[in-house]
Amino acid sequence: MKGLKEAPGFSALSEEYLFAETTKRIREAEASLGRRVARLGMGDVSHPLTPTVCRALTEAAREMGIDATRRGYSPIGGYGFLRAAAREAYAAEGVDLGEEEIYISDGAKGELSLIASLLAPDTLHLIPDPAYPAYRDLSSLLGREILFLPGREEDRFLAMPPDRICRPALIFLTSPSNPTGEAYDEAGLAAWIDYAVESGSILLFDGAYADFCGKGRPRSILSLPGARRCCVEIRSFSKGAGFTGLRCGTTVIPEEVCLGDSRPLAERYRRAVDILKNGVAYPVQRAAEAALSPAGRRETAVTVARYRQNAGLLREALAAAEIAFTGGWDAPYLFLRAPGGRSGWELFDFLLGAGIAVTPGEGFGNAGRGYVRLSALAPRGDIEIAAALLPDLLGSLR
Ligand code: PLP
Repeated sequence: MKGLKEAPGFSALSEEYLFAETTKRIREAEASLGRRVARLGMGDVSHPLTPTVCRALTEAAREMGIDATRRGYSPIGGYGFLRAAAREAYAAEGVDLGEEEIYISDGAKGELSLIASLLAPDTLHLIPDPAYPAYRDLSSLLGREILFLPGREEDRFLAMPPDRICRPALIFLTSPSNPTGEAYDEAGLAAWIDYAVESGSILLFDGAYADFCGKGRPRSILSLPGARRCCVEIRSFSKGAGFTGLRCGTTVIPEEVCLGDSRPLAERYRRAVDILKNGVAYPVQRAAEAALSPAGRRETAVTVARYRQNAGLLREALAAAEIAFTGGWDAPYLFLRAPGGRSGWELFDFLLGAGIAVTPGEGFGNAGRGYVRLSALAPRGDIEIAAALLPDLLGSLR
C-alpha cells in the first residue's frame, strides 16, 4: 500500500527469526541424510494432555453444544472457578492472593507485551542476557530502550541487578530460565526485589517453568517479602500441563503495584484487556481448572518427572563428554558451551549433520554466543538417540 508505513519497531528487529532459520536448516539436513533428525531444538512439549484435563475439556465442549449450558464471552479476568482454583494453588505454595488479583490469560507470551504496553514509551527495559528471545523482540517492536544484563557461566548466567540504580524500568526476569535451565535462590530474587523497589521499577516475573522448579528455588517471586510492592507474575499451563496448543495462563497483579504515585497497574491492565481481548475459551478454562485439581496436579507431576528423566539422560551424556553445561535440574533445558571456541551455530550445524537438532545460543542474546541449548521436552526416542550419540560427537571436538 503506497503511503502506508510499517511500525518503526520493525526496523530494530533482527532480520532472521531464529526458529525459522533452524527449521529451514533441519529440513535441508533431513533431505540430505534421508531420515528424520532427533529434535531437541524446540521448546514445545511432547507429552499429551493428561486424562483429567482431557475429560474436563471434552465435557466443557459438550456443554457448549447444549442450550442450557452453553457459554458466551468469558468474564474479562477469567471465570471465577479458574481464578479460585489458581488462588488455591498459590495458597498451597504459601502465597496468599485475592482472587481478583489473578487474571486468566491465553498464555504467557502475549501477557509480556500487554504488560509492557501499559507503560510509557520511554520506559527502560532491563533484560538478562541470554534470555527468552520474546523479551528482546517485543521490546524492539514497542520501540523501547533496552539495557541487557549479560550473565556469566561462572554465575550460572543468573544476572544480578546493575551496580548503579538506573531510571525506573520494566525488569524481565525468568526463573527457572529458558535457555540456561537455571533458577534463582531466595537471596538472588530478594536482591532483584530490593533493586526494583529502590529504583521504582516493575519486575515482570515469568514463571512459565514453575512446574519444574526444584527444592530450594522459589517457584513464585510473590512468596518473598516486598514482592507485592513491585512484582507482576506470569504463569503458563503450556509446559507442565502441556497446553501449548490450548493456550492458558495466569497473570497476578498485586493491588499495591502502581504507576506513578497511586494509579494501580491492575486498573490499567483491566482497561487494556477490555479493549484488546475477549477472553479465553470456556472449555480451555475448564481444562486449566482440571489441571489445578488434585488429580490434575498429580498427573502433571508425572509428566514433569518424565521430562526430568529426559534431562537426566542428557546430563549423563554431557558429563560423559566432559562438557561444561548449566541447567537440567530446575528447567527442561541444558545450556552447553561449544567445545574448542566454536560458535553456537557451528556446533548446531555439526550436530545437525550427525542427526541431532539443537538451538544455537546466539538466538538468546549476545551472551549466548558459543553455546547451544538442548530441550528435555523432546520425545523420549529423540532424547535417547541424542544421549547415545552426544558423548562421542562432543568428545571428538575437544
Ligand atoms: N516464557 C518463557 C520463558 C518461555 O520459554 C515460553 C515458551 O517457550 C513462554 C514464556 C511462552 O509461554 P506460553 O506458551 O504460555 O505463551
